[in-house]
Amino acid sequence: ILEMNHIKKKFDEKTVLKDISLSVKEGEVVSIIGPSGSGKSTLLRCATFLERADDGDISYCGEEVVKSQTGIAIYPEKKIIREAQQNFGLVFQNFNLFPHYSVLKNITDAPICNQKRAKYEVFKEARELLKKVGLEDKENAYPCELSGGQQQRVAIARALALKPKMLFFDEPTSALDPEITAGILRVMKGLAEEKMTMVVVTHEIEFAKAVSDRVVFMDGGVIVEEGTPEEVIDAPKNQRTQEFLKKLG
Ligand code: ATP
Ligand code: MG
Repeated sequence: ILEMNHIKKKFDEKTVLKDISLSVKEGEVVSIIGPSGSGKSTLLRCATFLERADDGDISYCGEEVVKSQTGIAIYPEKKIIREAQQNFGLVFQNFNLFPHYSVLKNITDAPICNQKRAKYEVFKEARELLKKVGLEDKENAYPCELSGGQQQRVAIARALALKPKMLFFDEPTSALDPEITAGILRVMKGLAEEKMTMVVVTHEIEFAKAVSDRVVFMDGGVIVEEGTPEEVIDAPKNQRTQEFLKKLG
């Protein structure tokens, strides 16, 4: 569903991604772990076109969106990027809900206004999604009236309302208390069980172990090691992976 090849990215003179290749198959859950500053968020931002790669190829569902030509990534016009972005949903650390919209409007606005779908159907589905994330009684609340964990559940429902083929999460629980984190992880586990394709940047090693088909360890802008959770988390081959996991305890 997603294929990225030889992605390179510099900020000023600092190389943040050094020739990264990552592909994600339909129904797969891929966790990305690694130390702070290793380039995990930058990789996700390049995959989702929030950031431009300097070089590399990016395809969604077999359609090449970005193509490397003589060492430079060639980007298509905005319209094509926007179409490619319809393939996925995004959930970040800081929820990013619209503060002046109710929960229900946060979820239904884009499907109605951008996707031009029928209101009746969108509202019906939004209520089903709220039930799924355990917030069926909060549709009229405003983001400021919700806890961080509840806001993150709304953000997940909002991403799902657009019927994406896959979801990207960037440390979805790192702004939350441990008890609240558990609830969000449960929702994500449910999505994994329903075979939602997901790429999750996370520090929650136990979650990565329980839910991922594949774990990718990044350090210093490269993929140091990747494989099944058993391979990468339980029996890492690379010394950098071993040290990182040891530090996490
Ligand atoms: P964390 O676990 O702390 O979220 P990360 O693995 O997500 O870290 P990135 O956010 O991808 O790391 O950052 C990788 C490097 O790129 C860091 O050194 C960071 O300072 C740098 N960087 C990221 N975004 C920018 C930017 N917009 N401008 C300049 N430098 C940036
Ligand atoms: Mg990050």
